[in-house]
Amino acid sequence: MASEAAYRTNVWVDWCPACGNFGILTAMQRALAELNIPPDKVVDVSGIGCSGKTSHFLNVNGVHNLHGRSIPYAEGIKLANPELTVLVNGGDGDLLGIGMAHFVALGRRNLDIKVIIHDNQVYGLTKGQASPTLRAGQRVKSMPLPNMQDWVNPISVALASGYTFVARAYALWIDDLKEILKAAIKHRGAAVIDVLQPCPTWNNIYTPDFYKQRLYKLDSEKDWDPYVKGPDPKEVAEKLSRAFAKAQEWGDRIPVGIFYANPYVESFVDNVSKVNPMYMQMSPAKNVIAKDDGT
Ligand code: SF4
Repeated sequence: MASEAAYRTNVWVDWCPACGNFGILTAMQRALAELNIPPDKVVDVSGIGCSGKTSHFLNVNGVHNLHGRSIPYAEGIKLANPELTVLVNGGDGDLLGIGMAHFVALGRRNLDIKVIIHDNQVYGLTKGQASPTLRAGQRVKSMPLPNMQDWVNPISVALASGYTFVARAYALWIDDLKEILKAAIKHRGAAVIDVLQPCPTWNNIYTPDFYKQRLYKLDSEKDWDPYVKGPDPKEVAEKLSRAFAKAQEWGDRIPVGIFYANPYVESFVDNVSKVNPMYMQMSPAKNVIAKDDGT
């Protein structure tokens, strides 16, 4: 196993003290170390926002990209070299506001990219305005008036868009987040993890105390099994509808864990290689696809 330190850079981590982003960064470093993926085989693409700095702090190939455009950039990287593990780190504003169309398109394509949403319900870098995941009527400390728009539910949108691995985690439960990250990285297809991330500087509603009183683990529920066991449309429909129902829970109890995982949907790389013979000629894609076919 590689050492966790191999995934750290020398760059000073300048997030505010007690920011939930520290937990996400640590979980990623541990997950990559435990999976023993060499840093030069990983690419992290990030957008604009506090979460965007992740690519400076994670010692892998990194791209600090335009606001909301991490996903199409990551898609290009993955298609050019499917051998790479490609991560996208972005905030709820970056991915579900300006970047929403790309978020939906990645689910439709089921391209093998892992999207990690740093979901703190605010635009932290620009002084705590309401982001797309803050609910209507809520007012965090920098807002002069309550939020006039309702939220988008990242889990529901991901399920409806076709993501084949959909999970929610909590930034301060680092071990659980690490295990979910490992499962997402091993999954062949588009994966999203909505990470509830306290922002102590601006968000005085979704605090660690708020989460402590409400979070529960899906795998503590009797009979909870998010994994589809075969290419049976009936089972897929049942698992999806159960996941949708769970995604609506947000109140006294908030579930975290894997909502849905379906390994039986072809990834975009497989589809492209079937319909476009030119793609097969590309290097290094050619080598990877040859390996997958066992030829
Ligand atoms: Fe973290 Fe919020 Fe500070 Fe940004 S503003 S670094 S999200 S605590």
